[in-house]
Amino acid sequence: MSTPPGGPDPVQLDCPQCGPSVVVQAHRHIDADHDTGLRQAILQDTLQQVECPHCQALVRAEPRLTYAEIARGLWVAAFPHEQLGAWQTLEPGALDALRQVQGPNARGTERVVFGWRALREKLLAADAGLDDVTLEKLKLLLMRDMQAPPLPLGAELRLSEVSAQSLIVTVLDRQGRPLENLDVPHDLLADITADPEGWAPLDSDLRAGPFVDVQRLVRG
Ligand SMILES: [Zn+2]
Repeated sequence: MSTPPGGPDPVQLDCPQCGPSVVVQAHRHIDADHDTGLRQAILQDTLQQVECPHCQALVRAEPRLTYAEIARGLWVAAFPHEQLGAWQTLEPGALDALRQVQGPNARGTERVVFGWRALREKLLAADAGLDDVTLEKLKLLLMRDMQAPPLPLGAELRLSEVSAQSLIVTVLDRQGRPLENLDVPHDLLADITADPEGWAPLDSDLRAGPFVDVQRLVRG
């Protein structure tokens, strides 16, 4: 096992309300097997979020980190959401960074994500035993059904909850603000897995690199 990067590092952010810099401790690497509290904070949408000391607005530093969870064989490089448009440039280096964190003998699933919601989605899927490639195919079905009216430009779909009855998929605008929640029955996932031949071309497109996300087709 090679040495994971250290951290956290203090990062200065501007409060969206009052301007002055707020300091947030930003992680460079998360070892989720040992630091389960950090994993929990990702799921609760609170990691790297602080209250502005002047106006109490919540300020959150975007992720720029590697995430390792050996128990589930999951390795994720997370970038700020605003870098999503540069995924093609960032993907190869991200994979190198993950391999360094993994060390020579580790095996598992390597993923690249942009923004907290995308990281949280991978953890939710892992917890629920959902294959994330199938989940992206499900999003393609949902997006096709949303053609009238069409999705706003730059919109994203993110899994935000899994229950026994259904999956909740949130539609977000290009700034990451939630627009609506879609309540999706689990059967739709089963329909996709039942038709591997029909999905074969998209399957290989989605698996072409560690950025397993419909956005690699939309923003190709
Ligand atoms: Zn403030």
